[in-house]
Amino acid sequence: GDGGLCQRAWVEMDLAALTHNVKELKNLLSPHTELMAVVKADAYGHGAVAVSQIALQAGASWLGVATIPEGIELREAGIEAPILLLGATHTPEQVKAIAHWHLQPTICTAKQALIFSEVLADLNQSLPVHAKLDTGMSRLGTPWQEATEFVQLVKRLPNLKLASIYSHLATADSPDPAVMREQHQRFQQAIEQIKIAGINPPRLHLANSAAALADPALHYDLVRVGLATYGLYPAPHLQSSANLKPAIQVKARVTQVKTIEAGTGVSYGYQFIAQRQTQIAVIGIGYADGIPRNLSNKMQVLVRGQFVRQVGAVTMDQLMLDVTDIPNLEVGEVVTLLGKDGENKITADDWAAILGTISWEILCGFKHRLPRVAV
Ligand code: PLP
Repeated sequence: GDGGLCQRAWVEMDLAALTHNVKELKNLLSPHTELMAVVKADAYGHGAVAVSQIALQAGASWLGVATIPEGIELREAGIEAPILLLGATHTPEQVKAIAHWHLQPTICTAKQALIFSEVLADLNQSLPVHAKLDTGMSRLGTPWQEATEFVQLVKRLPNLKLASIYSHLATADSPDPAVMREQHQRFQQAIEQIKIAGINPPRLHLANSAAALADPALHYDLVRVGLATYGLYPAPHLQSSANLKPAIQVKARVTQVKTIEAGTGVSYGYQFIAQRQTQIAVIGIGYADGIPRNLSNKMQVLVRGQFVRQVGAVTMDQLMLDVTDIPNLEVGEVVTLLGKDGENKITADDWAAILGTISWEILCGFKHRLPRVAV
């Protein structure tokens, strides 16, 4: 009884794999280090509410989102864990929404700190806030050289409760640790200065998945783990540091099978022309579901545990396979686009390699039209 969710195409989420990953990651941490499950972008395409609930049960104690609506979705689902807004916010309307929903903002600049303090004073409410330092990512945060003044201001302003000081690493997934070490040193130096100024930082954090896997010295009080929660490794050299299991598989059903003669073109633009008599299977999934069109004619899928070539342009809702080597394939049979079937598997890293991108982008690409089915 899946209510028909698995009729055309779907994302299968393995709740046990997700639980396993969170526990595996928690095992890497010292007992006082907390784990934040980064569930922005609908939990990297996995479904934010379901992932958050599982991650919290499995040992995560924080959630990280990028936007206010992402935080509200979790609160509306009844989730009470602390939620850090990793993105920047600055308008009074945003401050009010953050306060109303008990989200915890990232404060990146002195100006932003002043706006938050003022609006919160009007609301007669105070809020835990997280001071962000830029130690070399050149994205959000106050430059690390100006950290002391910035954190002193946040600490001093009424209605702001300094809950953490943090930074983000630019190259944690690189096998060359040089830049990461430099960022680590800058962070460490900024924290020393802040301590000298008489502020005892309540909580420090720096690590994403790669840093959490790479080096316990980067764990501090909290690690902010996205990709590894979902069972993927940020880079091949980190595969030995934990045993992670991909949490999602993408599947679709065969909707028609036909024979075409040698010389017959397939799909828009005839990117594929059959060289021999060919059995073609049509399956009900396309680029509007998150199968990148640039995989056209380059990807493989699994049918009955065997690799099969995808042929012709991926279309909006459908794509075609060369199933000449699969005898008597039937309408309704399940095709695995990402995941395991028998001895073989296809990973988001396989797609990313073909496309020249990263697995993060592949995962975030799966659209809401694909039902998420828990298994
Ligand atoms: N921390 C911050 C500030 C982020 O923006 C992200 C995501 O990009 C993460 C942590 C999690 O990163 P990852 O998925 O590599 O673990």
